[in-house]
Amino acid sequence: MLDIQVTRTKTPKPHPAEETLVFGRNFTDHMFVMDYDEGRGWHDARIEPYHALTLDPAAIVLHYAQESFEGMKAYRTKDGRVLLFRPEENARRFQKTNRRMCIPTIPTQDFVQAVEALVRVDRSWVPSAPGTSLYLRPFAIATEAQLGVKPSSRYQFLVIASPSGAYYASGLAPVKIYIEDEYVRAAPGLTGFAKCGGNYAASMAGQAKAHELGYSQVLWLDGAQRKYVEEVGSMNCFFVIDGVVRTAPCTGTVLPGITRDSCIKLLRGWGYRVDDETRLAADELMEFARAGRLQEVFGTGTAAVISPVGQLYYRGETLTVNGGETGRLTRRLYETLTGIQYGRLADPYGWTHPV
Ligand SMILES: *Cc1c(COP(=O)(O)O)cnc(C)c1O
Repeated sequence: MLDIQVTRTKTPKPHPAEETLVFGRNFTDHMFVMDYDEGRGWHDARIEPYHALTLDPAAIVLHYAQESFEGMKAYRTKDGRVLLFRPEENARRFQKTNRRMCIPTIPTQDFVQAVEALVRVDRSWVPSAPGTSLYLRPFAIATEAQLGVKPSSRYQFLVIASPSGAYYASGLAPVKIYIEDEYVRAAPGLTGFAKCGGNYAASMAGQAKAHELGYSQVLWLDGAQRKYVEEVGSMNCFFVIDGVVRTAPCTGTVLPGITRDSCIKLLRGWGYRVDDETRLAADELMEFARAGRLQEVFGTGTAAVISPVGQLYYRGETLTVNGGETGRLTRRLYETLTGIQYGRLADPYGWTHPV
């Protein structure tokens, strides 16, 4: 159990109007902070008024990107309760990321306690308009000031919170994706399975190229052969082919999404066959699409939950998926997952976590 000291702000900010909320631009009144020093471990857990950080310009995180993060949401139900979604899974994934980044881990119960404490203090910031939520961003940074390349002896773990708008202002909208065969996001032995800033920095050039060409997301191929489909933007990717649901295996280069895992469990519970072990080549994918056997494509992740794909571009060829419309299974997954998250539907797997 952490002993969390709470210092409340004396100058609360006005809450933005819920209809104006976008993703990740507004922040609440408080933040969680905890320090780590070698020999002492994690200490001084506290909630403070939200404020800018003071970092030495030689802090390791600023030069060598020794950093890790998580993404999760608090949802307000119709009757005013506040729910987290599978927060222990975020805690466990954060431990895996931290091990890969040589950052000291945080026990599951402490991670969940930190998130819960911030949500409690900033509870009034959990919005209630349809589709809105309080996005939570736990992260750890290496703060030791020195320019030698080595794991830091000092860290901070922080949690900030951002009231965020509905991802789809006017219902699920299929996106156009560009299958990228030049840049890669991850390769065997690297950090694809870890949630770390470096993966995102490395993905921006490919994403910018896709935007310039009029596509909203990149579909990444594996980094060794540039052959097999892996993720779409910063989401996991699913394909419905001849009634079977396929998604890239999590063998080190794919981020093990909690939304991905939840979709697989729901689909199997509904009797669908889900193949999360066989890799799918981009060539095969286009062949299935040409033959009319590719029924649906969608991305999964905490921010959008489910993001339908309506068009695929690969090596000079553009193919439409499901006539550019949201597929039936895509919609069913979206309605079911959001239904559970907002407490509108029964929660048979015990995924929601009241605060
Ligand atoms: C966070 C993330 C996801 C989605 O994970 P969720 O737990 O479902 O939010 C997928 N891919 C990448 C690269 C990510 O960083």
